[in-house]
Amino acid sequence: MEQETYLSKEEIIHWLKEKDANKLASLYARADKLTRKLFGTKVFFRGIIEFGNSCNKNCYYCGIRKGNEKIFRYLMPKKEIVETALWAYSQGYGSVVLQSGEIDNEKRVELILEVIKEIKKKTNLRITLSLGELLKESYLEFFKAGADRYLLRIETANKSLYEKLHPEGHSFDNRIECVQNLKSIGYQVGTGVMIGLPFQTIEDLAEDILFFKKLDIDMIGMGPFIPNEETPLFSQKQYCMKEDMFQLSLKMIALCRLYLKDVNISATTALQALNRKGREIALSSGANIIMPIITPLKYRQNYLLYPNKPCLDETAEMCKSCIENRIKSVNKNIAYNEPGDPLHFLNNGKIND
Ligand code: SAH
Ligand code: SF4
Repeated sequence: MEQETYLSKEEIIHWLKEKDANKLASLYARADKLTRKLFGTKVFFRGIIEFGNSCNKNCYYCGIRKGNEKIFRYLMPKKEIVETALWAYSQGYGSVVLQSGEIDNEKRVELILEVIKEIKKKTNLRITLSLGELLKESYLEFFKAGADRYLLRIETANKSLYEKLHPEGHSFDNRIECVQNLKSIGYQVGTGVMIGLPFQTIEDLAEDILFFKKLDIDMIGMGPFIPNEETPLFSQKQYCMKEDMFQLSLKMIALCRLYLKDVNISATTALQALNRKGREIALSSGANIIMPIITPLKYRQNYLLYPNKPCLDETAEMCKSCIENRIKSVNKNIAYNEPGDPLHFLNNGKIND
């Protein structure tokens, strides 16, 4: 274990509580140094296609929860999903993420299977799915059809906190089991948490990082919790930690890099909702992935998980050149046409032994 990057749980807690700007700058620099050692100046690009906003779940924090009757529900036709992925391919993206609300029925499984097969027939894009908790058999079918990766955030590793954030019938244990099922099938698996949730503590966040290691996770996507007026959790926002949520999110990214080392860590869109330069700052503090939204414009205002979501009215082309400039501003480059498989997956976790 390299001395410079070793961290104990106590040190993680200490850093999460640190307020001194100079000391924090040194933490971010250490995380950036390790990131550059692992990936050079490369930032991997994934285009995210939010192909449907209907959801059978009622998570208390999310704008597209089933109980929100104020939004127009959409599902992109198969042809349009595939065309969006082909556009991404033509632009040099190495990977696309297909994300939606959680719908667990045969018709939906069939649609996803057809989309995966069609994209794989025409491109060598890596396909990431982010469809929530589904049956292990469905995960297996998608994998056999060519899906490579799956993102399923645990939201928090604290079971009793998880239960406060979800109504009955939403099971923490099932969510963890899904992550384990995905790992055992052979997916590259990503997870993450929301930062600054009501009732969440600094100790909870430290436990989240330890839990990622225990689950042997390949990819991390974390972002600040952004209270959404259209959701029940909005009324609990006074119970959020009184911290600078942007700084806290950056600390989590840097600490994940130093503790987990060879995983992929994304600079999430939610970070940019708090700070105009949020994503590029994250790319200098441990993150190595960026996920531009490439959902066709006409659907975007209906995929509002949280308010102030950036890039709502930018076309995918504009989004690409804007992000290109942001990445250049921190002396990094987009790794066009590269899959960007997580080193942790390729190394089979060996670097952490
Ligand atoms: N339905 C799938 C994928 C879409 S939701 C799933 O739940 O896994 C993707 C992520 O959006 C969730 O995991 C959650 O972490 C995040 N999210 C939802 N509401 C949010 C909010 N108010 N603030 C920040 N992130 C939020
Ligand atoms: Fe549905 Fe995912 Fe939102 Fe929960 S977080 S309500 S599962 S889209």
